[in-house]
Amino acid sequence: MARIPHLAGSAALVEIDPAAYGFVEEGAVGTGPFSGRMFMRSRIGMGWSWSLAIIGLLVPLACQAGDERKQLAYEAVDRNAATMAAISDAVFYFGELGMQEFESTKLLKGTLEAAGFKVDLGGAGMPTNFWAEWGSGHPKIAIVTEIDALPGGSQTPGEFARKPIVPGAPGHMEGHNTHAGVASTAAFAVKQAMQRYNIPGTVAISFGPAEEQLASRPFIVRAGYFKDVDAIIYLHIRDSLATGYGLQNYAAISSIFTFHGKTAHGAVNPWDGKDAVDAVELMDIGFDKLREHLRPSYRAHRTITNGGIQPNIIPDTGQIWWFVRDASMPAAKGTYDKLVKIAEGAALMTGTTYDVKYAASAWPQRVSRTIAEAIQKNIDAVGVPHWTAEEQQFARDFQKSAERPVVGLRTAPEALGERRQATSSNDNGDVSWVVPAGLLNFPSSVPGIEYHEWHAAVTPVSSISHKGQAVGAKVLAASIIDLLTSPELLAKAREEFERESKNTPYFSLLPSEAQPPTDLNRADMDKFRPEMRKHYQDVAPRFN
Ligand SMILES: [Zn+2]
Repeated sequence: MARIPHLAGSAALVEIDPAAYGFVEEGAVGTGPFSGRMFMRSRIGMGWSWSLAIIGLLVPLACQAGDERKQLAYEAVDRNAATMAAISDAVFYFGELGMQEFESTKLLKGTLEAAGFKVDLGGAGMPTNFWAEWGSGHPKIAIVTEIDALPGGSQTPGEFARKPIVPGAPGHMEGHNTHAGVASTAAFAVKQAMQRYNIPGTVAISFGPAEEQLASRPFIVRAGYFKDVDAIIYLHIRDSLATGYGLQNYAAISSIFTFHGKTAHGAVNPWDGKDAVDAVELMDIGFDKLREHLRPSYRAHRTITNGGIQPNIIPDTGQIWWFVRDASMPAAKGTYDKLVKIAEGAALMTGTTYDVKYAASAWPQRVSRTIAEAIQKNIDAVGVPHWTAEEQQFARDFQKSAERPVVGLRTAPEALGERRQATSSNDNGDVSWVVPAGLLNFPSSVPGIEYHEWHAAVTPVSSISHKGQAVGAKVLAASIIDLLTSPELLAKAREEFERESKNTPYFSLLPSEAQPPTDLNRADMDKFRPEMRKHYQDVAPRFN
């Protein structure tokens, strides 16, 4: 009766990603007579090639000055803007769910290997776990992000009305496809600067599978990928150019408790039965009695996943699936341990036995203030894209059509600040307890258009997205160059990390025999892939 002995095959902690959510800025509007619809219909061809042609013209003056190493990286991003868009757009049309990112990782492997990167695909027991790096030794700086899509997210780009590309199919209604282009282009730009200026060290990219189901990072950490990494930067799309610091979200533990009893006729010989669903109910009641004695920061929620068959059959199996959360992992683990004792008690009271399966876990994602301050300087230097009047008009039309506040696109980066700790969770939290972590959001979506719904799949291949990706790649590359070239910055981030984690050393929630749920979403992708394949873009993007 280990605490969390097995990994449940398909059960995981499905979560909205709080890092993705911005707030709506007032007054960020432009004007223009252009009807943005056609402009935004930017599949391959006119759309991205046209919009990219102007990106190079729109670099704010501020980033023309300063560090020439960064300048070289900015030029590499501008020169490869079409390649970056081609990568992100191809991944959009792959629309692959977590653990099934086969086409996306294949394309990225080809692109990054052609650019001289060493690619490790399939590590940590996950066929779509992707790690790429260039260079050698320290400092080693990694970009941490993800490229999975969401179920039911298929939507035709540029269309305000619901119009799936393939009905029922998954799709990028959070824009994780953009992470592919930004991360690889930024890493390439850093490589160019490292080569030209003989900057020692390593630049790496980690595309972790199945972020949307919190399914991979504890395994990637356990496999040791971050052991020799000096710092990471989380990368995520948003409607703004921003960083932040502090704890971003909650710790979470997800486990499934199954009780085993003895069946009997409910009327004829119920005294021979041992009711497993009684145990489920008693576990629920037992936890309700505990709630009064828990700290106010806790969260716990459950669903009964097996509640018997019919009333006259004493059920020999009952099952209940729990999420336990708190502001820190030790606090969540403390509550979780009590939950396990309650399961023991419920089994004792009913004469049943039980087992408990680990489903998922996540440490709260914490972000370094030191690294955030460095990133903010680059944000302020690069600035937000210069949106055209047509793009602003498109954004306002879209917001109006989606019944959101009509505010257009943001015309300034966010100021640096500590973010409020969200009570939801994100599996890349584990990484931030083994290595100092920064955070970068780039402005590739429309304010007020929330993720995890089909509206958010309208713009990920638009010129708005492409221009947001370009500034994101520049800020990311510049920030990695800072981390590679400033031992003081890295030492300060390390000292801060040690100080903050002294009282909360990382421990893995994974049972030793746990294996990643690699079958996750396989049936769904097998069902939809043949139709989706017809919309794949036949591209082989190459950096130059
Ligand atoms: Zn996300």
